[in-house]
This record gives sequence, structure tokens and C-alpha cells, in this order.
Amino acid sequence: MKVPFIDLRFVNDSLRPEMENAINSVFKTSAFILGENVDSFEKEYATFNHTRDAIGVSSGLDALMLSLRALNIGPTDEVIVPSNTYIATALAVSNVGARPVFVEPKMDTFNIDQGRISAAINSRTKAIIPVHLYGQACEMSAIMAIANSHDLFVIEDNAQAHGAAFEERLTGSWGHINATSFYPTKNLGALGDAGAITTNDQMLADSVRSLRNYGSRVKNIHDHLGFNNRLDEIQAAILRIKLKRLEAWTKQRQDAAAYYHTQLSGIGDVILPFVHPESTHVYHLFVIRTNSRDDIKQSLLERGIETAIHYPTPPHMQPAYSHLELRKGAFMLAEELATTSLSLPLYPGITEAQQEVVVNGIKAFFDA
Ligand SMILES: *Cc1c(COP(=O)(O)O)cnc(C)c1O
Repeated sequence: MKVPFIDLRFVNDSLRPEMENAINSVFKTSAFILGENVDSFEKEYATFNHTRDAIGVSSGLDALMLSLRALNIGPTDEVIVPSNTYIATALAVSNVGARPVFVEPKMDTFNIDQGRISAAINSRTKAIIPVHLYGQACEMSAIMAIANSHDLFVIEDNAQAHGAAFEERLTGSWGHINATSFYPTKNLGALGDAGAITTNDQMLADSVRSLRNYGSRVKNIHDHLGFNNRLDEIQAAILRIKLKRLEAWTKQRQDAAAYYHTQLSGIGDVILPFVHPESTHVYHLFVIRTNSRDDIKQSLLERGIETAIHYPTPPHMQPAYSHLELRKGAFMLAEELATTSLSLPLYPGITEAQQEVVVNGIKAFFDA
């Protein structure tokens, strides 16, 4: 039996007639941009996320960039980001002209180590972007306390953690303004690019609503030097349908994760994901660690099991960041995770039989 790393058919095929109807309705209205689907999705997502506002935008990267712009962060400013994240978090900072300052992760949760944040703050620091990596909420109360004591903004990168919570408060509702992505493979995924900003601050919400639409709230009046970063009606119509199923899909992810946790405990040198007692984990990814990462990956592939690495090269070691002159060894923990972490197949609709194949593949590797 082959086990793909991800299979979107379960999520997309089951809803296909409903989604086709929704796309047809958009055809009938001929309203393709900023119509009733975007409006309704924004209300529904704000309700889901327990925030005053949600603003639909064109992608997760754009959501981060517009959040930074709404806070007037730009050249000469510094923004703290995790050294262990997808490069988009750092790129958003660079793209507004500011400088990303990397902070190492905690090795158990993989999330930014709040104990190391203060040492990275100086007079140029304007904001912190915690990333709820792989679906586990960061320790947000401590991060908010550090931000408040230094007068910094917090922008949560919630691209991987729709519906997760820390101390029972949802991710995407802690920061001053927060960004998320609905890239097709995310826990809530569109059928193309899409993203959103969530906030409880009406002024910031108004500001990003304007910035995403050429800096205009009222037709032909442009208050800001804006952009075109709108969510489109078809993606919004799709997201409205999928949002209703998100909770059920999250439960399936958590059940699949529980199976791996039971079956893989004590096998070889495998370190299983650690979940902080106050965090919920919505298992966007199930990431294990092992010193035999590359060999296990190869051995599983030979058995027809696909795995992935999130992420093989930390942002500071990417050629795009060579100008920061942060060479190998600059962020040892992120570099260590890049060589030892392995993401196992996990998605709504994965069967126990498929997971058993994965587990047996890993056991067979260590038995050999
Ligand atoms: C996917 C992702 C993004 C970027 O989202 P896009 O919609 O692809 O632009 C940003 N940050 C994190 C942590 C992500 O996983």
C-alpha cells in the first residue's frame, strides 16, 4: 500500500457538488471581487476566531505584509521572528524594508523560545511575530507580557494553526493584528491562494481593508499608498463551505496524531511531538525527530511511504538572506531541527491501515 504525504481528495471530493454550486452562484451574480461571499466569510471567520474583525486577503504572505504596513513598520525597524519557521514569516519583514531578527526555538515544542526574546530586543525593535508552528499554539501569555513590557506589537503567524488555543484562547486572537493563510494544504485551505488578517482593533482593521484595495475605502478616494491584495469571491465561497467542516477535520487530525503517539512511543531514537499542557495542537503537521532522519526517509520511500521535511534549510541559511551574514552555526537549534525533523503523513481521511504501514515502516527501519 502506498501512503502519500498528503491527499487533498478526501477534503475536496466530499464537498465537490456543494463547491461547484457555490462557484456557479458566483457566475450568476457576476460579482467576482469584494462581494457578498467575502463579506460573509469575513464575518464567519471572525466569529470562528473570536475576533472583532477578519479581513480576507490574497495570501498568508500578503496578510503578514499588510499587518506590518498597518503598524507602520518599515526601513530601520527590526522585527523578531523564529529561526525555525517557513521563510514567508521572515520575507514579510524584509519585504516591508525592515530587518528580521531570528530567535531560537524551544526544542520540545519547536516554537519560538520566549525566554530568548528579551535578549534580541533593542531600540529598533517594533514587533514580534510568533509562529504557531506545525499547529501548536505558542506560549502566548508570556509572549504578550514581554511585548507589553517593551511596547512592542505582536503579529501572530497563524498559517498552520487555525482553531488552536493557548490557555483556551484561540491563536489569531492574542496579537494586536494577526495573519493566516488558506493555501490549499493548510488546515483550512482554499482552491488557490488566499489568506486573512484577524484583529480586535477597529483602526487596524480599517487600515488593512483600505491597504488591500489600493488604499481606498470609498471608491476613487485613496487615503493610503495601497496594494491589490484582495481575497476573491470564488475562494471566499469555497472557504465558507470548508470552514463549517474545519472542526471535524481537526478532530480527525488529532485522532490520527494520537494513533502515531501510541504506536511510535519508544521506537528507536524517535522523539515524538511534545504538546505544552496549556496548548492545543491542531496537527497541521506531525513532526518527529531522529538522528537517522535521512536514512529513515529513504527507507520509507522504498516502501512507498512519502514523508516531508519542514524545513530542510532555516531562513537564515537561505541564499536570499546571505546579506545578513548569518552563517552556519548562527542559529544552532534551528539548524539541528533542519537535520533531524521528519514530517509523517497526516491529513483528514488518512486511514488507520495507512498509518499502520507508516508505523511498521519505521519499526522495520530500527529492527534492521
Ligand atoms: C504557508 C505559510 C505562510 C505563507 O502563506 P501563503 O498563503 O503561502 O503566502 C506563512 N507562514 C507560515 C508559517 C506558513 O506555513
